[in-house]
Amino acid sequence: MGPHTLELKQLCSKLGRKYVGFRGDPHAPIWFIGEAPGADEDQAGVPFVGSSGRELDRMLNDASIDSRLCCFTNPYKVRPPDNDLERFEETGISYALSREQFFEELREYRPSFICPLGATALELLCKSTIDSKDKTSKISKWRGSILTSEELLWPHIVLGNFHPAYILREWSDRAVSVFVFQRLKEEFDFWLKNSRHQPLPDRQLIADPSQGEIEDYLTECLNHDGPISTDIELLARRVPICISFSFNRSSAISVSLFDGQVANLRRTWRLIDAILARKRILGQNWTTFDANWVEALGFHSGIPLCDDTLVLHHVLHPEMSHKLDFIGMQYTRQPYWKDEGKGWNLREGMSKLKRYNCLDSAVTLEAFEEMQHELDDNPILRSFYKDYAMPLAKAFYYIDKRGIETDPQRLGELRTDVVRELGERCVSISKELGGRAVAYSAEMADKLAGQLKIDSKGILNINSVPQLKDVLKNELKIKLKTAKNAKGEYRESTGEDSLNEAFAATGNQVLKHILRVRELNKILGTYIDARYGDNVFYSCYSVTGTVTGRRASRKNFLGFGSNGQNQPKHSDLGERFHGIFVARRGKIYVYCDQASAEEWIVQGIIADVSGDTKGIRELEESMRSGISRHAVLASQIFGLPIEKTNNKECLEYYMGKKVRHAGNYGMQPDKMATEMAKEGFPVAKEFCAAVLDKFHQTEPAVRKVFHKYVEHELCTKRMLRTPLGRERVFYSLRPYGDNNKIFREGYAYIPQSSIGDNNGLAILYCQNVKPGCVLMDGHDSMLTEVDDDVGVVIDQMRLMLQAYDRTMRFPNGFEVKIPIDFKIGYTMKDLKKCLDPSKETGLQNISEIYSRLQKVRQSIISGAPSQPLARQSSEMSGSIEESSSSIQTSI
Ligand code: URA
Repeated sequence: MGPHTLELKQLCSKLGRKYVGFRGDPHAPIWFIGEAPGADEDQAGVPFVGSSGRELDRMLNDASIDSRLCCFTNPYKVRPPDNDLERFEETGISYALSREQFFEELREYRPSFICPLGATALELLCKSTIDSKDKTSKISKWRGSILTSEELLWPHIVLGNFHPAYILREWSDRAVSVFVFQRLKEEFDFWLKNSRHQPLPDRQLIADPSQGEIEDYLTECLNHDGPISTDIELLARRVPICISFSFNRSSAISVSLFDGQVANLRRTWRLIDAILARKRILGQNWTTFDANWVEALGFHSGIPLCDDTLVLHHVLHPEMSHKLDFIGMQYTRQPYWKDEGKGWNLREGMSKLKRYNCLDSAVTLEAFEEMQHELDDNPILRSFYKDYAMPLAKAFYYIDKRGIETDPQRLGELRTDVVRELGERCVSISKELGGRAVAYSAEMADKLAGQLKIDSKGILNINSVPQLKDVLKNELKIKLKTAKNAKGEYRESTGEDSLNEAFAATGNQVLKHILRVRELNKILGTYIDARYGDNVFYSCYSVTGTVTGRRASRKNFLGFGSNGQNQPKHSDLGERFHGIFVARRGKIYVYCDQASAEEWIVQGIIADVSGDTKGIRELEESMRSGISRHAVLASQIFGLPIEKTNNKECLEYYMGKKVRHAGNYGMQPDKMATEMAKEGFPVAKEFCAAVLDKFHQTEPAVRKVFHKYVEHELCTKRMLRTPLGRERVFYSLRPYGDNNKIFREGYAYIPQSSIGDNNGLAILYCQNVKPGCVLMDGHDSMLTEVDDDVGVVIDQMRLMLQAYDRTMRFPNGFEVKIPIDFKIGYTMKDLKKCLDPSKETGLQNISEIYSRLQKVRQSIISGAPSQPLARQSSEMSGSIEESSSSIQTSI
């Protein structure tokens, strides 16, 4: 026993503290290092015997690591007060003595594999992992990296992993944790077989190439058969400064784009362009990032032949992180390198950045090759990536560039109205608060303070969370629900859900004003004040943005535009905002959406699993009769005649729609009440509970068949597959405990993904057959723009019919095909419904609607004056309150 160990043990017995040493044989080759003992360990005098120890054992077992090879210990051998390591020295034992003792025992037993569990142990062992900014190590960056400790002088590796206590909280990371233990096992097996540690990947990174090296490497790329991995780095996020290429995983070159003699640069640029034009380019996020920048510089984009590891990884592992550091960890043995690209500057030279640039390309190539092997075992996913996800990512590259034309005059009017209503709402809140000045932003608070000559602290800024929380809790005595914040702590929330829930419970008008101010602020900041390029609204669609595969959208790479598909749709604001989108001169919009889209999938599953086709027959019948299923449901639930409920303006119809959605996806009454409050319908959760009960009595198959099917698939396979071939493993699912939240995600997954992919496939079809016609993806709908001619409009509708002409086949063979509805018009707001051109009276109907549109075309495009915002919204709210109380009495 070393002197520090002796000293620590003696001190412990003097202080009456339990010294918790090893579990297992310290001569074992693999050591797991925790933090400090907890209550169970303190009692037993043995580390890792409590709940996290048991979970650790299960994970090691899953990774086939034999416990006889393992030893478990902690750097701090005594339990800190309340398990709080920050209070460790209250035990009377210093950190310093503990650390010396820890390194002393490591030096005594010289383990060959050391696995720090969590940041505390990693930080002690590998100082190089400590972040220069906040002086801590991030286990979420370094788990899985093969490292060595600067402190330990014998051959060993350090391979960090999450602490098992964290895994018990964040179950979704358990799969990653087991994966890291499997890597540990592989490293151990190599060591056992070869009597040495496996060396790290050896890569030739040509970060400071001569002109000759550049030309040789780029020429080799041109002559190479396989994909050429490529990556750019930006200066100040604005200017591409270097570009790297790699044609095999053990080499890469980084080339400065603006450095060197002009004649050399010219030759380099020509070679770069030849690669981008002719070769199969591979990039991480090539489609929504690098390609845009290289094309902006005048190079070919590389899009036609490219592959994108971000897209492929999203197809393979939708729930995992798709960042290159994670992909690199998963598929290569390259230790974490992503911080190396930070903290360089032009004065000190670009070597560091260019080495990093090289590594990005080489790692991307290696990961891609490994992912191809993974696809060998899964031909369905291979085709899903090759024939759909990747082509769709490319299609959006072009769709994003087109954008949607807007009318600047309407946009200006909308801005004026929004700002005016914001002011009015603040005045209303102020009245409710006894005259205290209220602002909707920090800027306005400052302005107001200047005007009123008071301290801005006396003004309530609705945008400030602490101020808002204070007023709601302390002045208005409103109980806010708690929610988990980014640090995982539960705090009272002023988020939309919380305020809506409070509004549903109290009906307090201040909450309603605050929610409206949020909505107005959002439309102002995100949409109205977005950057419009020559009056065009741009949006960048990402096929990897959601776990369901529905596209996400955001500003484009130059910061123009915004999220194109989650624009406010249903409220008065949504309608006004849609009014700003106008078809380009000489063009007309042709729009279509999938009718009752997700419902076909839910009922398709019910029919496939149980043979009960009632729902499918009702859907078909409603297509024929024009009587909506929501109306039928509403009539059954509320006992009203169908003639009354079959009206989109009628509240019971709306409830029919909402309750079907909530019931299909297992929504709880309080969540349904919150969702309804969000849309301006504050109803009590008891009311929602009653309506949901009626729904399940009327549609028992939803719970008995659809939900049961999803739960069974999840419990037996942990995975759901859609009829269009998309797969998702649900990593958060626990083998025991409450999985209801995951089940609810599962109910929504197949319908939402199938509809999103049906839309994606249709968009891909239209973009391929008629490039440039698609403007917008609306998850279950598509907006296109074509020449303003009735014949062209009809042709476009026929194209759309072909694009959506797809039968979806469920596992037992039941098939559904989702019908589409059409609209045409000159602004998004004034789209007019038309019949399908293949229907008997379709062509005549389309011609009539087209002629009617021609008559009013000029006023639609020039923008006839519309109602001021505030009036519209107050009119709506009045009628909502009346109708919602009439429902309450009718149930
Ligand atoms: N957590 C640790 O870090 N160590 C133990 O021994 C038990 C729980």
